[in-house]
Amino acid sequence: MNSVAIIWHQILWIFEVKLLITRKLKMKKVLKNVSFVFLLLKMCLIFGQETSAQKRIVIDVGHGGKDSGAIGVNGIQEKDVVLNIANAILKFNSTAEKPLGIYLTRYTDTLISLSDRTKLGKALKADLFVSLHCNHSDNPNARGVEVYVSNQRSMFLDEAIWFGFQLQADLNEKLGFESRGVRLANFLVLRETIDFMPSVLLELGFLSNEDEGSYLLKPESLDSLASVIWECLIKNLDGYERIGD
Ligand SMILES: [Zn+2]
Repeated sequence: MNSVAIIWHQILWIFEVKLLITRKLKMKKVLKNVSFVFLLLKMCLIFGQETSAQKRIVIDVGHGGKDSGAIGVNGIQEKDVVLNIANAILKFNSTAEKPLGIYLTRYTDTLISLSDRTKLGKALKADLFVSLHCNHSDNPNARGVEVYVSNQRSMFLDEAIWFGFQLQADLNEKLGFESRGVRLANFLVLRETIDFMPSVLLELGFLSNEDEGSYLLKPESLDSLASVIWECLIKNLDGYERIGD
């Protein structure tokens, strides 16, 4: 984790504690705290050690806290699977020669609102927003990887779709995941980011499927998934110009 990410993690923690306290008081105070967080965030960007050429990616770690997301056939919870994958991505990134600027929307088992997740992407002027999830279906045979992009028009939509197809191809080739296609959806995290950056929501296998559920239970599988995602980020973002600043 680089220094900016550590500071961001601390800010999130302070923010959560403050929010908890002020929720019991008045709404006005909550709003004040939100602007306080973004002031701190700006400061940490100024004092961070990120280089200007470094691509910035926000990884939105789905669910968290009391929202467990989908529950697997074997009892594993979506919120834990995606947090472990995100942390493994950070680990690969931290040992890379040319690391990306990766920021998570949560670093712990805590619930962040959907709109705060997208605000982080916008405040950081991210080059890409990637929301991590796992799928669930009543059909126990449903399996594979789905990628969702916003159904709104945007200059960033082509890049989002391209990244989605690339990632599916890599997960298929390297790990044997079936590709279920790139689909259009009106999810809030996509809708509120696509005007500012390419954004995708990944459904990384079905927790309701016996095979994929037991695959996602193993820490080494999550490392493999993280490694393919990280390599795909590097491969695709290398050619991108920084959009922000
Ligand atoms: Zn989910």
